[in-house]
Amino acid sequence: MKMSTLNNLAGFEGNTLPMPLLFLGHGSPMNAIEENEFVQGWRETGKSLPKPTAILCISAHWETRGTFVTAMEHPPTNHDFGGFPPKLYEVQYPAPGSPVLAAETKHIITKTEVELDHKWGIDHGCWSVVKHLYPDAEVPVIQLSMDYYSTPQAHYDLAKELASLRKKGILIVGSGNLVHNLSHVAWDKLNEVGFAFDWATEANETMKKYILNGDHQKLIEYKTLGRSMELAVPTAEHFLPLLYILALKEEHERVTIFNDKAIAGSLTMTSVKIG
Ligand code: ZN
Repeated sequence: MKMSTLNNLAGFEGNTLPMPLLFLGHGSPMNAIEENEFVQGWRETGKSLPKPTAILCISAHWETRGTFVTAMEHPPTNHDFGGFPPKLYEVQYPAPGSPVLAAETKHIITKTEVELDHKWGIDHGCWSVVKHLYPDAEVPVIQLSMDYYSTPQAHYDLAKELASLRKKGILIVGSGNLVHNLSHVAWDKLNEVGFAFDWATEANETMKKYILNGDHQKLIEYKTLGRSMELAVPTAEHFLPLLYILALKEEHERVTIFNDKAIAGSLTMTSVKIG
């Protein structure tokens, strides 16, 4: 695909500043339909952004063998969870896809072969947050999967290849959680915003420190950061979308932390805006 085709997608007029980057701590899928301070934080952040040409989302909930990009004209809303109230399964987020952007994404990634996907649609890691940024679903959305077999360093290096998309008005969103340990959830404190176990607070502060001082290598090597990080990141999938966003940060860009609160002891909703 020609770049000009991509630029013409939704009237993007060649803004010289790169589009900001977002890492959104998504928490429970119920945030898709609840009204709370985190939803308000996403909504306010959405209003602070230039209107994107399209959105490229890296979600904790799409891990694959190899790397895929969604390429459907009309991606279905994927209700990829179990045990929630029926009204959550009724949510539809009918944003169009963008086969043009999917082809461009495949083209610019050289670290690995990216395959076009025609099945996944948009998963809740993506739609439960993006619907608050763009409630009218008018901005096209595609997703890039994370290769389960890649190292954190390989994810970070691959993400750097997406840099040119920012200059074409593409909003790149990583969706996960900094601290995410479901086996330690304090079920009796589910509705108590701000409650965190000591190790969760410690790990969240450690991650924020390296996000803000730009020491990405420490975060890439998160497995060496001690016991609190081991508990905070027991599996990589909710953490890795952060590395995609950090990899794309340019030297001078401002980093803003928001929604920086814990829920249920073992999750943090901490979110990051770059640019
Ligand atoms: Zn999740």
